Amino acid sequence: MGLARRKDMASRPWRLSAKLLILSSVVTVIGFSAICVSVMLDMRRGEEELARQTLENLASGIDSDIGRNVELYDLSLRAVAGNMVAPEIYEVSKPIRQLILFDHAATAKHFGGIQVFNAEGRLTIDATTLDPVSEDRSDEEYFKVHRDQPDVGLFISRPMLHHGAYAIVLSRRITGEDGRFLGVVAGSIRFSYFHDLFSRLHLGQDDIITVFRRDGTVIMRTPFDLDVIGKNLSYLPNVQRVLSEPSGSYSGVATANHDPRLYIWRDGTRPLVVLVGKPWSDILGLWRIEVTRIGAIMVVLIVFVLGVTLFLAREVDRRAAAEDKLEELATTDALTGLRNRRKFDAAIEAEWRRAARQKMPLTLLMIDADHFKCYNDTFGHQAGDEVLVGIAICISDSVRRAGDCAARYGGEEFAVLLPGLSPAEALRVAETIRLKVQQWFGDTAITTVSIGVASVVPDDTTDWTRLVAAADKALYAAKADGRNCTVLAGLPKLSLVA
Ligand code: GH3
Ligand code: MG
Ligand code: MG
Repeated sequence: MGLARRKDMASRPWRLSAKLLILSSVVTVIGFSAICVSVMLDMRRGEEELARQTLENLASGIDSDIGRNVELYDLSLRAVAGNMVAPEIYEVSKPIRQLILFDHAATAKHFGGIQVFNAEGRLTIDATTLDPVSEDRSDEEYFKVHRDQPDVGLFISRPMLHHGAYAIVLSRRITGEDGRFLGVVAGSIRFSYFHDLFSRLHLGQDDIITVFRRDGTVIMRTPFDLDVIGKNLSYLPNVQRVLSEPSGSYSGVATANHDPRLYIWRDGTRPLVVLVGKPWSDILGLWRIEVTRIGAIMVVLIVFVLGVTLFLAREVDRRAAAEDKLEELATTDALTGLRNRRKFDAAIEAEWRRAARQKMPLTLLMIDADHFKCYNDTFGHQAGDEVLVGIAICISDSVRRAGDCAARYGGEEFAVLLPGLSPAEALRVAETIRLKVQQWFGDTAITTVSIGVASVVPDDTTDWTRLVAAADKALYAAKADGRNCTVLAGLPKLSLVA
């Protein structure tokens, strides 16, 4: 019998906990979300890196183009400034002087004609004509700078209207062999050069290119904006960084625009610094679309998984509740609500083993209604049933510890398992039950119970059926003693505790 019960317990399916199901789903969802977020952030870093490289290449390209042209033009200016010192230059004819002073490099498309001004600022030689019209440039910044500061070298003016077109004027000092100021040689690079350069680039609609002079003056800017061009922006902290570090990047908002941009600058140690900026909305545009798409899919999947999980968890819970109910039904006596015989057998086997392990006494009460056949015969079967329910209530009221097991053993017989109770304590419980039953039904002549009590400390050589037999024997003794009494079994062979 014991073996069959063990097999039955082993084959019972494992009950999946609804909480465990929800927890595992939530952990899975969090895990997948974390992976997704990490991939998205990686993609973002990739987009940013790509934009950074593109802007760096753009800035480098523009910087080297401007640098090359300024250098080329400067070479011509240097040549003129150098040749103007030679006294022979004043002895040759005007056409020959033009040929000596001016090379063809200075006549390139966007370069203005080179002009030479004497120490008073008056135009003396013009590359474009043999007989220049009189001009006085002594008030111009580029003239005063060279006159007052011998070591300026190449001076680049702020943007200005020069010969009817916006241009920057490049100038060098003509210094005599004795260090005297002899005048200024000046030429210009027209804005058309920058327009032409920028139009050849594939720029985004909101990309910004700004060319700064070393002192922070904006030389050129695209989109072309006369409000910004010519202004000195060196008071801005970011522009200060641009002017002081050879290359770098920052994220910021343009003065005329509130769209945040990534800015990168290059300064190939040339007199001008190129700063390019691209809006973050352009850099991360595709990434944002992708994030929205994947995010939406993730949200739908998460809602689906959590929905299915909640549904399954509810089903698992419902099934568990049904199993509990079934289990309860299968182990409960329908009439009295006490445990049934099946449950009692399982309980006594488990308690017997536990008591053997812990070397604790296990006590059993066998309770039998007295003259019950007679009661049935007199008052009917239904009244008999009510008495059985009453006896069950009296037993339940008296047996309240968690480990105790009160069961209907069969017919009008009940069994109460009291683990860890000494025979004396068990006797007290038995007497409480007996007296309760007696008081419940009032007239002792109608219904009483007889109780047999057996208590034993189990060992490995004994079997719980011996305990039942002993309690049964004590019950018969109680019946023989005249009923409505409790008898404690004498079990010398089973090492009776008391
Ligand atoms: P004793 O004092 O020696 O125990 O006498 P008794 O009449 O109680 O014993 P007996 O074994 O002769 O009779 C038991 C009776 O219990 C027989 C049966 O009619 C009655 N009985 C058993 N199960 C039920 C039940 O579920 N409901 C009712 N009403 N009676 C039951
Ligand atoms: Mg009986
Ligand atoms: Mg009886």
